[in-house]
Amino acid sequence: MNLLYPRTCPACARYIGGQQNLFCDRCMHRLPRTEQAHMRQNVTETTLIGPVSDIVAGAKVMHLEKAAAFLFYDKDHPIQRVIHKMKYADQPMIGYFLGRQAAIEFQYADFFDEIDVIIPIPLHPKRLNERGYNQSEYIAKGISDVTGIPIDLTHVTRTRNTPKQALQRGEERRENMAEAFAVNHPEQLYHKHILVVDDLITTGETMRSCLKAMKIIRGTKITVFALCKAR
Ligand SMILES: [Zn+2]
Repeated sequence: MNLLYPRTCPACARYIGGQQNLFCDRCMHRLPRTEQAHMRQNVTETTLIGPVSDIVAGAKVMHLEKAAAFLFYDKDHPIQRVIHKMKYADQPMIGYFLGRQAAIEFQYADFFDEIDVIIPIPLHPKRLNERGYNQSEYIAKGISDVTGIPIDLTHVTRTRNTPKQALQRGEERRENMAEAFAVNHPEQLYHKHILVVDDLITTGETMRSCLKAMKIIRGTKITVFALCKAR
């Protein structure tokens, strides 16, 4: 593990040679946990269900069993630095470690019971090529290693390379996310309970867009797991 994990804590930058966790004990203890694993109607769920206008337009997310995030993401909290390192600074092992930790903690709430397959939100091939890895795949791998649930990387694909979301406003963002995902051979996923995994849910647009594409999978149940929910 020492070969894989950096020797300084990614949250506080303190040196932590020779210990098992990725974070120092203090930061590990202080991770901003949401406690949403057994909490229904939590803010991650209500964010995904979306504004009333979506429901009126018939765009309500279907088949959503439950949703939860492991951590709250606050600007100015050390978690912001951690997630930035995970996504942009070539430290995807942070995702793997936190995915594992979330799975260990969420198992006590039976959160992953009856789930057949894990699908991480895909990146567009162009973005994947630039970054070299998909952080959500690493999170999914951490969950899979704890729960034994297999990962599927083939059926859901990203069909449009959406511009970086931080630069956009709400309406534009919504337009850009429309039809950004596709499901290949949906019949192979019929009647499965799928865990969809993302790194960070902010407005929920990306996840909603993916779940809308997944509506063509007949008889499916969907549970959503996000590593972080922005507050
Ligand atoms: Zn620390």
